[in-house]
Amino acid sequence: MYRAVFPASFDPVHYGHMDIARRASLMFDELVIGVYDHANPLKKVLFSLDERLEMVGIALGDVPNLRVEAYSGLTVDFARQAKATIIVRGLRVFSDFELEFRMALANRRLAPDLDVVCLIASEQHMHLASSTIREIASLGGDVSSMVPPHVWQALQGRYAPGATGAQL
Ligand code: ADP
Repeated sequence: MYRAVFPASFDPVHYGHMDIARRASLMFDELVIGVYDHANPLKKVLFSLDERLEMVGIALGDVPNLRVEAYSGLTVDFARQAKATIIVRGLRVFSDFELEFRMALANRRLAPDLDVVCLIASEQHMHLASSTIREIASLGGDVSSMVPPHVWQALQGRYAPGATGAQL
Protein backbone atom coordinates (compact mmCIF):
# COMPACT_ATOMS: atom_id res chain seq x y z
CA MET A 1 0.00 0.00 0.00
CA TYR A 2 1.50 3.31 -1.10
CA ARG A 3 0.36 6.42 0.70
CA ALA A 4 1.73 9.80 -0.38
CA VAL A 5 1.37 13.36 0.91
CA PHE A 6 1.21 16.48 -1.26
CA PRO A 7 2.13 19.44 0.94
CA ALA A 8 1.66 23.08 -0.06
CA SER A 9 0.25 26.40 1.13
CA PHE A 10 -2.59 26.40 -1.42
CA ASP A 11 -3.10 30.17 -1.01
CA PRO A 12 -5.19 29.65 -3.06
CA VAL A 13 -5.41 26.25 -4.74
CA HIS A 14 -5.22 26.49 -8.55
CA TYR A 15 -5.44 24.22 -11.60
CA GLY A 16 -1.69 23.47 -11.43
CA HIS A 17 -1.99 22.03 -7.90
CA MET A 18 -5.14 20.16 -8.87
CA ASP A 19 -3.45 18.58 -11.87
CA ILE A 20 -0.55 17.31 -9.73
CA ALA A 21 -2.96 16.02 -7.06
CA ARG A 22 -5.15 14.20 -9.57
CA ARG A 23 -2.19 12.60 -11.33
CA ALA A 24 -0.63 11.56 -8.01
CA SER A 25 -3.93 10.07 -6.87
CA LEU A 26 -3.71 7.71 -9.84
CA MET A 27 -0.18 6.66 -8.92
CA PHE A 28 -0.67 5.93 -5.21
CA ASP A 29 -3.27 4.06 -3.19
CA GLU A 30 -3.94 7.08 -0.99
CA LEU A 31 -3.03 10.73 -1.27
CA VAL A 32 -3.16 13.11 1.69
CA ILE A 33 -3.16 16.78 0.73
CA GLY A 34 -1.35 18.74 3.43
CA VAL A 35 -2.44 22.36 3.72
CA TYR A 36 0.32 24.19 5.51
CA ASP A 37 -0.64 26.22 8.56
CA HIS A 38 1.92 29.02 8.78
CA ALA A 39 2.80 29.29 12.44
CA ASN A 40 4.91 32.37 11.69
CA PRO A 41 2.54 35.36 11.81
CA LEU A 42 4.99 37.31 9.63
CA LYS A 43 4.28 34.97 6.74
CA LYS A 44 1.12 36.58 5.48
CA VAL A 45 -1.45 34.45 3.75
CA LEU A 46 -4.43 35.78 1.86
CA PHE A 47 -6.81 33.03 2.96
CA SER A 48 -7.13 31.58 6.45
CA LEU A 49 -6.30 27.95 7.06
CA ASP A 50 -10.00 27.04 7.22
CA GLU A 51 -10.70 28.85 3.95
CA ARG A 52 -7.79 27.10 2.23
CA LEU A 53 -8.86 23.71 3.57
CA GLU A 54 -12.39 24.27 2.32
CA MET A 55 -11.26 25.47 -1.10
CA VAL A 56 -8.96 22.47 -1.59
CA GLY A 57 -11.68 20.14 -0.32
CA ILE A 58 -14.17 21.45 -2.87
CA ALA A 59 -11.60 21.48 -5.69
CA LEU A 60 -10.64 17.84 -5.19
CA GLY A 61 -13.70 16.44 -3.44
CA ASP A 62 -14.45 14.08 -6.32
CA VAL A 63 -11.15 12.18 -5.98
CA PRO A 64 -12.03 9.06 -3.98
CA ASN A 65 -8.60 8.12 -2.59
CA LEU A 66 -7.71 11.62 -1.46
CA ARG A 67 -8.18 13.45 1.83
CA VAL A 68 -7.26 16.94 2.92
CA GLU A 69 -5.56 17.77 6.23
CA ALA A 70 -3.95 20.78 7.84
CA TYR A 71 -0.41 20.57 9.09
CA SER A 72 2.26 22.71 10.66
CA GLY A 73 5.88 22.06 11.41
CA LEU A 74 8.13 19.84 9.38
CA THR A 75 6.74 18.18 6.26
CA VAL A 76 8.59 14.96 7.14
CA ASP A 77 6.80 14.86 10.51
CA PHE A 78 3.47 15.38 8.76
CA ALA A 79 4.27 12.58 6.31
CA ARG A 80 5.23 10.19 9.10
CA GLN A 81 2.16 11.08 11.11
CA ALA A 82 0.04 10.34 8.05
CA LYS A 83 1.93 7.04 7.72
CA ALA A 84 3.02 8.03 4.22
CA THR A 85 6.31 7.04 2.63
CA ILE A 86 6.24 9.46 -0.30
CA ILE A 87 6.17 13.24 -0.60
CA VAL A 88 4.75 14.50 -3.90
CA ARG A 89 5.85 17.83 -5.39
CA GLY A 90 5.35 19.56 -8.72
CA LEU A 91 8.04 20.93 -11.01
CA ARG A 92 7.23 23.86 -13.24
CA VAL A 93 10.39 25.63 -14.27
CA PHE A 94 14.09 25.13 -13.72
CA SER A 95 14.11 27.28 -10.57
CA ASP A 96 11.60 24.88 -8.99
CA PHE A 97 14.08 22.09 -9.58
CA GLU A 98 16.79 23.76 -7.56
CA LEU A 99 14.46 24.38 -4.64
CA GLU A 100 12.92 20.92 -4.74
CA PHE A 101 16.33 19.30 -5.09
CA ARG A 102 17.62 21.06 -1.96
CA MET A 103 14.46 20.33 0.00
CA ALA A 104 14.45 16.68 -1.05
CA LEU A 105 18.06 16.23 0.10
CA ALA A 106 17.36 17.98 3.41
CA ASN A 107 14.23 15.89 3.95
CA ARG A 108 16.15 12.73 3.11
CA ARG A 109 18.71 13.64 5.76
CA LEU A 110 15.92 14.16 8.29
CA ALA A 111 13.89 11.12 7.25
CA PRO A 112 15.73 8.50 5.18
CA ASP A 113 12.59 6.36 5.14
CA LEU A 114 10.70 8.94 3.05
CA ASP A 115 11.17 9.59 -0.64
CA VAL A 116 10.18 12.50 -2.85
CA VAL A 117 8.39 12.07 -6.17
CA CYS A 118 8.32 15.14 -8.42
CA LEU A 119 5.77 15.33 -11.21
CA ILE A 120 6.46 17.60 -14.15
CA ALA A 121 3.79 20.30 -14.52
CA SER A 122 1.40 19.93 -17.41
CA GLU A 123 2.19 22.33 -20.20
CA GLN A 124 -1.04 24.28 -19.89
CA HIS A 125 -0.48 24.92 -16.14
CA MET A 126 3.25 25.58 -16.15
CA HIS A 127 2.91 29.30 -15.60
CA LEU A 128 0.50 29.04 -12.68
CA ALA A 129 1.59 30.08 -9.20
CA SER A 130 -0.59 31.19 -6.30
CA SER A 131 1.42 34.41 -5.94
CA THR A 132 0.83 35.34 -9.60
CA ILE A 133 -2.86 34.55 -9.28
CA ARG A 134 -3.18 36.70 -6.14
CA GLU A 135 -1.40 39.56 -7.86
CA ILE A 136 -3.53 39.44 -11.00
CA ALA A 137 -6.74 39.15 -8.97
CA SER A 138 -5.71 42.03 -6.71
CA LEU A 139 -5.37 44.23 -9.78
CA GLY A 140 -8.82 43.27 -11.03
CA GLY A 141 -7.61 40.76 -13.62
CA ASP A 142 -9.61 37.72 -14.66
CA VAL A 143 -8.08 34.51 -13.27
CA SER A 144 -11.06 32.30 -14.06
CA SER A 145 -8.93 30.17 -16.40
CA MET A 146 -6.44 29.50 -13.60
CA VAL A 147 -8.60 28.54 -10.62
CA PRO A 148 -11.89 26.68 -10.18
CA PRO A 149 -15.05 28.82 -9.97
CA HIS A 150 -15.37 28.75 -6.16
CA VAL A 151 -11.79 30.03 -5.77
CA TRP A 152 -12.37 32.74 -8.38
CA GLN A 153 -15.44 33.81 -6.42
CA ALA A 154 -13.47 33.88 -3.15
CA LEU A 155 -10.72 35.96 -4.80
CA GLN A 156 -13.24 38.44 -6.16
CA GLY A 157 -14.77 38.74 -2.69
CA ARG A 158 -11.37 39.27 -1.08
CA TYR A 159 -10.35 41.95 -3.55
CA ALA A 160 -13.71 43.68 -3.84
CA PRO A 161 -13.50 47.39 -3.10
CA GLY A 162 -13.67 47.87 0.67
CA ALA A 163 -12.95 44.20 1.47
CA THR A 164 -10.75 43.57 4.50
CA GLY A 165 -7.59 41.43 4.61
CA ALA A 166 -6.89 42.03 0.95
CA GLN A 167 -3.11 41.85 1.02
CA LEU A 168 -1.26 40.11 -1.82
P1 ADP B 1 2.41 28.17 -5.58
O1 ADP B 1 3.80 28.16 -6.17
O2 ADP B 1 1.33 28.08 -6.58
O3 ADP B 1 2.25 29.25 -4.54
P2 ADP B 1 3.14 26.33 -3.62
O4 ADP B 1 4.36 27.15 -3.41
O5 ADP B 1 2.24 26.13 -2.46
O6 ADP B 1 2.26 26.86 -4.78
O7 ADP B 1 3.61 24.97 -4.31
C1 ADP B 1 3.50 23.75 -3.71
C2 ADP B 1 3.81 22.65 -4.67
O8 ADP B 1 2.94 22.71 -5.79
C3 ADP B 1 5.23 22.71 -5.24
O9 ADP B 1 5.73 21.42 -5.37
C4 ADP B 1 5.02 23.36 -6.57
O10 ADP B 1 6.05 23.02 -7.47
C5 ADP B 1 3.70 22.74 -6.96
N1 ADP B 1 3.06 23.58 -7.95
C6 ADP B 1 2.66 24.85 -7.79
N2 ADP B 1 2.14 25.33 -8.94
C7 ADP B 1 2.21 24.33 -9.84
C8 ADP B 1 1.85 24.20 -11.23
N3 ADP B 1 1.34 25.22 -11.89
N4 ADP B 1 2.05 23.02 -11.85
C9 ADP B 1 2.61 22.00 -11.16
N5 ADP B 1 2.99 22.06 -9.86
C10 ADP B 1 2.80 23.20 -9.21
